[in-house]
Amino acid sequence: KVAGIIVQQPLPECIPLRAVIDAIDPRKDIDGIHPLNAGLLALGYEGYLPATAHASVELLKRSGIELAGKDAVVVGRSNIVGKPIANMMVQKGPGANSTVTVVHTRTKDLAAHCKRADILIVAAGVPGLVKPEWIKEGACVIDVGVNRVGTKISEKTGKKIAILSGDVDFDAAKEIAGYITPVPGGVGPMTITMLMRNTLNSLKFKLGIA
Ligand code: NAP
Repeated sequence: KVAGIIVQQPLPECIPLRAVIDAIDPRKDIDGIHPLNAGLLALGYEGYLPATAHASVELLKRSGIELAGKDAVVVGRSNIVGKPIANMMVQKGPGANSTVTVVHTRTKDLAAHCKRADILIVAAGVPGLVKPEWIKEGACVIDVGVNRVGTKISEKTGKKIAILSGDVDFDAAKEIAGYITPVPGGVGPMTITMLMRNTLNSLKFKLGIA
């Protein structure tokens, strides 16, 4: 009866993530976290792609951004976001062929890497990490970060809701970047779309109509 399974991370410390991942049927792994799907992605074969990573790359493609030959810098190396984004963009083939650098907390001179990026994808989970002056004029910025930086009262419902911010200062960065995604309303909705797409494909496969 189940077409797709996602694991909401982080798990409580008492539950080992690897054991949970191993328990997922790779054919229902609609967030692409099983080693089989991660391996297929690394090798450039078809499989389920992690939804947020897929969403980030799909936003670039559908905005008509050429990836081939571009210097792409990915801030963050998690298994569900940073690494799969880098794997997708470095593949040999259409809609890829970027020169990819992955940076993280041990990277020397983060600013220097960001400054030379034609495509800058930020998935660190640190509000305001990427300063506007780190962004190359005209660069394409995908801000994956979702950070709760406070609370406010919703005008619609009158209830207390979280104030969300990305990893990039949107208002300042949009004056420099050629393209930039907002938070909220950028990668988030596209992630849901990619999850639904994978779920539909999984169901079609299950029903033998794929
Ligand atoms: P994660 O597992 O915590 O990974 C964060 C990565 O960023 C790590 O590789 C870390 O480096 C790196 N990093 C953290 N601080 C840094 C710094 N100061 N300088 C350089 N690198 C730094 O997080 P995640 O699951 O990949 O998620 C990243 C962000 O995306 C979070 O804000 C999350 O909420 C958001 N997210 C959004 C969606 C969406 O649908 N929009 C979906 C998933 C995640 P180390 O490896 O060295 O620790």
